[in-house]
Amino acid sequence: MARSPKTQAIHAGTRLSSKARPVAPAIHVAAVSDFDDAELLDASFDGKDYVYTRIRGQNAELLEEAVAALEDAEACVAFATGMAALKAVFEAQSWKTGDALVIPMDGYGATQALYRALAEKHGVVVHALRLSDAAELNRLERLRPKLVVAESETNPLLSVPDMREVARASKAAGAKLAVDGTFVSPILQRSLLFGAEYAVQSTTKWINGHSDAMGGTVSGTAETITPLRKARVLDGAVLGPFEAWLTLRGVRTLPLRMAAHCEHALAVAKRLDGAPGIRRVLYPGLSSHPDHEVAKRMLSGGFGGMVAFEIEGADRAAAFAFLERVKLARPAPSLGDVTTLVMHPATASARRLTAEQRTAAGINENLIRVSVGLEDPDDVAEDLLQAVRA
Ligand SMILES: *Cc1c(COP(=O)(O)O)cnc(C)c1O
Repeated sequence: MARSPKTQAIHAGTRLSSKARPVAPAIHVAAVSDFDDAELLDASFDGKDYVYTRIRGQNAELLEEAVAALEDAEACVAFATGMAALKAVFEAQSWKTGDALVIPMDGYGATQALYRALAEKHGVVVHALRLSDAAELNRLERLRPKLVVAESETNPLLSVPDMREVARASKAAGAKLAVDGTFVSPILQRSLLFGAEYAVQSTTKWINGHSDAMGGTVSGTAETITPLRKARVLDGAVLGPFEAWLTLRGVRTLPLRMAAHCEHALAVAKRLDGAPGIRRVLYPGLSSHPDHEVAKRMLSGGFGGMVAFEIEGADRAAAFAFLERVKLARPAPSLGDVTTLVMHPATASARRLTAEQRTAAGINENLIRVSVGLEDPDDVAEDLLQAVRA
């Protein structure tokens, strides 16, 4: 007897039978798989096969394999966002009341807010240090933190800590080191090679590269990563299959994009440097940048796609007016896109900091951050300069 349309609608077209192997990975949207026999299902649990996507998912796993390879890591675990990845690193530590945590005082505002909130819940004392300052690093010995969180290139001032020194000082103080490499991607820095235990990326930025999927990764040794993978099964902050697929597609061109972003950013920084109306340009590739020499040792193949600059005499209203005058660049609070993005750190990435914290970090109201895209750098520089001049 022919099956009813009600049944056909559910069971027809669920499987392909083919020996062909698609060159690009499929998007595995199935949340759950079935197995021919119950023994096999039983043997497939606990991450041994793809039973249920929260436990283990095909697309996330392909991305993890690619990011691990780029980070030169044994293992990688992907999360729904960069923030979920950072939270997983915090929660993987066995915190006791009174333990210390070090975060970068000039780092991403949301990271500082997240870690301060988590620390408060666990009775952990937070110390925000400028890790690109050797004198501040000396404080680790006495603070004896359990975890040190650093950024490869800080947001938005683009300081470049000497990660070898940060790793050495962390180890001497008995701390584990987590490096958020989002601003430079694993193409420019593989922090595990400098001695970090955790290499964190918000894949939402350069790794994906097209502002169309969120995600985060943590890479390290298998021993370091396994507990995070196990915790993720219960926490549930997994990366969805479509996001993982898009991000992996971005990975394919990451080395070429980063090379071009670095070249374009240097060209734009040089055009802005000394131009009328611009007070100072911050780019680690300029010899005027305080960390230029360190950046040469810490970054390979270029100085990144981020440029920051201050508009002469601009207050908040003047900075906002600049954002409204750019024609090619898009005023959007993110980075790492093929499109040039501009933003005002004081009211965007650092908005969760208090005015005092911003001043201490050196984030002024006239500061603009640029994520230099893949357009012709002369067009980008012209656009920024006309918006400054107007
Ligand atoms: C964007 C960003 C994050 C957070 O990543 P999401 O994917 O937005 O959650 C963390 N660290 C840095 C340096 C970032 O720029």
